[in-house]
Amino acid sequence: MAVTRSSKKRSDDTPLAASSKIGKKKRHKYIFVIGGVMSGVGKGIATSSIALILQSKGYKVNAVKIDPYLNIDAGTMNPTEHGEVFVLRSGLETDQDMGNYERFLNVSLNPADYMTSGMVYQSVLEKERNLGYGGKCVEAIPHVRDEIIHRIHLATDQNGSDISVIEIGGTVGDFQNALFIEAARVLKLENPEDVLFVMVSYLPVPGTLGEMKTRPTQNAVQQLNSYGVQASIIIARSSQVLDKRRKEKIAINSNVPADHIISAPDVDSIYDVPLNFEREKMGEMLLKLLKLPKKSSTELKDWARFVGRIKNAKKEVKIAIVGKYFDTGDFVLSDAYLSVIEAIKFSSTEVGAKAHITWVNAKDYEKNPKSVSELENYDGVIVPGGFGETGIEGKILAIQYVREKKIPYFGLCYGMQLMLIEYARNVLGLEGSHTTEINSNPTHPVIDVMPEQKDIIAHSNYGGSMRLGVYKAQIKKGTIAEKAYKQSVVEERHRHRYEVNPEYVSQFEKGGVVFSGVSPSGVLMEIAELPRSVHPFMLGTQFHPELQARPLDPHPLFTEFLSTVLKRSIKNF
Ligand code: GLN
Repeated sequence: MAVTRSSKKRSDDTPLAASSKIGKKKRHKYIFVIGGVMSGVGKGIATSSIALILQSKGYKVNAVKIDPYLNIDAGTMNPTEHGEVFVLRSGLETDQDMGNYERFLNVSLNPADYMTSGMVYQSVLEKERNLGYGGKCVEAIPHVRDEIIHRIHLATDQNGSDISVIEIGGTVGDFQNALFIEAARVLKLENPEDVLFVMVSYLPVPGTLGEMKTRPTQNAVQQLNSYGVQASIIIARSSQVLDKRRKEKIAINSNVPADHIISAPDVDSIYDVPLNFEREKMGEMLLKLLKLPKKSSTELKDWARFVGRIKNAKKEVKIAIVGKYFDTGDFVLSDAYLSVIEAIKFSSTEVGAKAHITWVNAKDYEKNPKSVSELENYDGVIVPGGFGETGIEGKILAIQYVREKKIPYFGLCYGMQLMLIEYARNVLGLEGSHTTEINSNPTHPVIDVMPEQKDIIAHSNYGGSMRLGVYKAQIKKGTIAEKAYKQSVVEERHRHRYEVNPEYVSQFEKGGVVFSGVSPSGVLMEIAELPRSVHPFMLGTQFHPELQARPLDPHPLFTEFLSTVLKRSIKNF
């Protein structure tokens, strides 16, 4: 028996344990992944890998990310500080870990698979305003805790899954994730056989000692114990392999058997992690602990083949990503554009090449326009999504250069809008073309705000209010888009406020641009391209194809781009 899914079925302040005898049709299993010692050591990849391993054993699995911050969603956070905003099919703006879950599991996740403290409190407070608690005093325990549990159940239901793998953001001991750990503890109390905890810990190897230290991990396990929670498995992240002696030391101090302590040294590729876990028999261990029978197993064969192909890719291609980079280091950038990087990786692997990515600061081209000729050294150029004015003229210069020099170009969202501004200014002769995002009254507003967005901007209602999530596009016959997709209708994910101004569509078409993807109503331009007779690959999308690129299912537009890039690299045109 598990806790009830609907808080309506019981009085809101009855202890859950006493109230949960309402039967459930199907028994679900829950694995909570909690961080010990410090954050940023690969909890998201561990969660994704556990989920993938269980999926490969024949179970239906969903992964849930809990972000303890108070933002309602990730949409209002700066990606160069907090990482990419990953948009789900539904349009919910989430944390980049959701992208990893989707890529590993090769599924599209649902809105309930993501929760923040902000969302949880918002629901509780709305319910309170609507007298939903029937005059009771509304408190963190039980009301907020139960809302968390309710959301976990909802995620399981929305996905129809057998097992939910739930990552609790932050580190044990944080003030702000304590309520989530408390919710997990109560769920375990209610369902002792169906819930287990995995701690992803970190074992430092201080340079001065040159020796791996287990003490911080022992402390973290004990700290988790102080919440009434016992880890069943410890994933020991470190720069080195965990030896037998240290495994035993952690085991004796933390009540976790030594064979449930998994060594997880640094890896070259995150896609190695599930294979490494399976080498340590993680799948069998989890099934045993959850008392689940062995079903058929794919033994991660397709995954291993993909990982092998990454390693064996012999050819090399050079890609420049031109953006505004605030002088941050590459480390932060790779988080801000995670899905783009991964999409390139999957498609370059697909065409048998390894892609080397260089970050190019568009602002440099504004200071020194001639330096744009360095793009000649690349096999392909991408302008990714973005907002605002910084570096925009530098990006437009880069686009002009690659158009004229016939270097393959792929524009993602802003990258398509800027491609059309450049074309309008320099080919159509529409001087003063711009987007109204930057200039509210240009001579030629070729990119303009969507009518329904005007009110939103006027009232500064920025959160969750862009054109978000999946929309259909009809693909035109005989185009690069059609060659890539081999489909007449596609569904892609969006995140933008501005669009191609319908009043300029026919001028663009007369001037040589092909709108190869258009919304079913015919009003919104979704893909713009130049014919192959004019340019080998000059294509932009209003949507973000990178959000649906998967290791075992690379995105067709990225693959078409990469195969053109590869031809250039071997000087085939
Ligand atoms: N800033 C542009 C818009 O809002 C593009 C957004 C993006 O690249 N995601 O339409």
